Amino acid sequence: MSNSTLAVRPDEQPWTAEEIEQVRAELLGGIERLAAELKTSAVELQEMLAAGVDGAGNDQADIGSTSLERDAEMSLAANQRVLLEQSQKALERLDDGSYGVCENCDQPIGKLRLMAFPRATLCMACKQKEERR
Ligand SMILES: [Zn+2]
Repeated sequence: MSNSTLAVRPDEQPWTAEEIEQVRAELLGGIERLAAELKTSAVELQEMLAAGVDGAGNDQADIGSTSLERDAEMSLAANQRVLLEQSQKALERLDDGSYGVCENCDQPIGKLRLMAFPRATLCMACKQKEERR
């Protein structure tokens, strides 16, 4: 394994094995947590859908808030799925050595930023540009 060749910014020290392990552990922990949350969301959604189908006893207000809850739950699940995919992709890139390179400008994202946000796929400059859009 030659993971020490992972990209860093010019003013940063090369990745150490410990730092790579830390990022990997962080990503793995996130994947585990997100997968568990997604499972819970799926169950809750199913329960909500089931409750919605025979909601004959509910009055209008109840039905309204149920569908709001369901929408919130669905967008939460969608977010978790995106985060999960990002984590898995980051792990793959960690393994193939392409981790830490900005997807937009091909410059190193920077170790400091990745240690704080292991899932980051954009450097700070590109991220800020994206948020301004
Ligand atoms: Zn960039």
